[in-house]
Amino acid sequence: MLWKTGRRSQNIEDRRGLRISRGLGGGSIGIIVLALVALFFDIEPRIVMQGAEILGSGTSQTETQPIPPGQEEAKEFTSVVLADTEDTWRVLFPEQLNKKYEEPTLVLFSGVVQSACGFAQAAMGPFYCSTDQKVYIDLSFFDDLKKLGAAGDFAQAYVIAHEIGHHIQTLLGISDRILAQREHMNEAQRNALSVRQELQADCFAGVWANHAHRARNILESGDVEEGLNAAAAIGDDRLQKQSQGFVIPESFTHGSSEQRARWFRRGLESGKVSSCDTFNTKRL
Ligand SMILES: [Zn+2]
Repeated sequence: MLWKTGRRSQNIEDRRGLRISRGLGGGSIGIIVLALVALFFDIEPRIVMQGAEILGSGTSQTETQPIPPGQEEAKEFTSVVLADTEDTWRVLFPEQLNKKYEEPTLVLFSGVVQSACGFAQAAMGPFYCSTDQKVYIDLSFFDDLKKLGAAGDFAQAYVIAHEIGHHIQTLLGISDRILAQREHMNEAQRNALSVRQELQADCFAGVWANHAHRARNILESGDVEEGLNAAAAIGDDRLQKQSQGFVIPESFTHGSSEQRARWFRRGLESGKVSSCDTFNTKRL
């Protein structure tokens, strides 16, 4: 991906090096619960924590620890991709949705983070919190991505663009609607709804890539394959197979490798938000 000369975003909040300090109450239950679901990438902490107690309200991020070394380029890269999503969606919102785009903030953290959706740790992977409209990412995730077989800068860009896809769902009122619908659902139904939400975010990531390339020529040869490969690498079937040796489709929350790659491609080829209506599609 051709990114080095790209604009850097101003909407980065660097909380790397901050530790969580606990006030009274709470305890470490959050850490225990979240460790169990570490396999599930990019789920809002409040959804993971449904029914569990989130750390006490006295929790904040103040104490410091060393910033992980060797992340300067990853930070620069993330800032450029974020800026590119801003430049893209600022144009696409009025064009395709008759709305004004509101830029989210991207929080960099190391290890643990306190979001408006609850406490999270790096093992959960990057996530978006619709309450504070922020994307949270521990840059060490890019190393995890490589270990999963999704190497390359465009694989990383796809992940960031997917999280921005969740922000778009929030701006369009989709996230709130989903949270309300979840209330009346059993687990299997909630998982199925989550898959639709996640595949739409993949499709939105593709829409971004389409326009970013047309406007700024960012894609180099091999990038599209890197993106499709990354989408497949974090498909539920592949992750479950790797972690537990077998696959339980009813427990999918993000979609299979084939579905994730296909919806990313759909957005990439169409460049249209309207092509990403995963909620009214019978066969995903
Ligand atoms: Zn997601």
